[in-house]
Amino acid sequence: MSQYWSKLVHNLDPYVPGEQPKDQRYIKLNTNECPYPPSPKALEAIHAAADDTLRLYPDPNADTLKDAIADYYGVTRANVFAGNGSDEVLAHVFCGLLKHDKPLLYPDISYSFYPVYANLYQIEAQQIPLREDFRLCLGDYSVDNGGIIFPNPNAPTSMAVGLEAIEALLQTYPDSVVVVDEAYIDFGGETAIPLTAKYPNLLVVQTFSKSRSLAGLRVGFAVGHPDLIDALERVKNSFNSYPLGRMAIAGAAAAMRDRDYFETTCQQIIATRAATVQKLTELGFSVLPSAANFVFARPPQGNAEAIYLALKQRGVLVRYFNKPRINEYLRITIGTDEEMTEFLRILTEL
Ligand code: PMP
Repeated sequence: MSQYWSKLVHNLDPYVPGEQPKDQRYIKLNTNECPYPPSPKALEAIHAAADDTLRLYPDPNADTLKDAIADYYGVTRANVFAGNGSDEVLAHVFCGLLKHDKPLLYPDISYSFYPVYANLYQIEAQQIPLREDFRLCLGDYSVDNGGIIFPNPNAPTSMAVGLEAIEALLQTYPDSVVVVDEAYIDFGGETAIPLTAKYPNLLVVQTFSKSRSLAGLRVGFAVGHPDLIDALERVKNSFNSYPLGRMAIAGAAAAMRDRDYFETTCQQIIATRAATVQKLTELGFSVLPSAANFVFARPPQGNAEAIYLALKQRGVLVRYFNKPRINEYLRITIGTDEEMTEFLRILTEL
């Protein structure tokens, strides 16, 4: 690499996104997207927004979207920050809220973007190991810290922690920002958003990419005390005041307001997950208790990589992590009933 680039760039270890191959049609169970289409009302709103107003810049504050989110969660617009996917929201969180003299804490098995952002923003971090059974135990976060972040449910392990444990953590560290990344919360976890009214140091981050079937639109958001939201707006405006386009604002707001469609989709995925877990268990897999739209499962012989490759050859993509402790597991996104039946049929043959 060229010598004249900064040391920071030389040392970057960027995130490797999940496979999105184009060589054939796959049953795609590898990147935790929703298998169902977006809400018809969201699609209608996106089409309606594709008119001659596209020549104008969008609302830099995305107020109609913030209002839809605020109404859904019973908070105010001042409690909501919106960004271009929750990854961008998280980037602003790391940049503006998590760099301190003391280390940032996050689980050692967790969303692999956290070390990337910590590295990019040169934030000192300490990883706290999950328990032997992959439980995320917040009582283990007993290090004086400059912030804490964890996904709930955790990824790729799929297991959720309860609100009492989160509240105890907030009480232990009233001067640390605690970020709960709730990308998968709508599939059985309990959101910490109500706790933001009581704890000004709590920030909850969510996405439209999973339970709202809009990964392609790139919309995420955070809910917290207005001071935290204001800090994020300051970071955002230091980059670009228009993170969301007109179609994204319109589509995401309509998706948020279509409660019935959202609830039906989530319930369907939860039901398919239960049937999938049962079948995997019958096949001898050990499956961690999942509160997400994916399961984390260990094949009976622990030969996860071989199974991942054999499935891929047969047109089914799941996620395999070649990393210590989790390299005997597969992360399997819950698809439609038909996709899961086909996946399980091929798996049984293997
Ligand atoms: N947090 C977690 C835990 C995730 O798994 C993901 C999806 N890869 C994200 C955040 C980011 O999702 P998005 O940028 O699509 O909102």
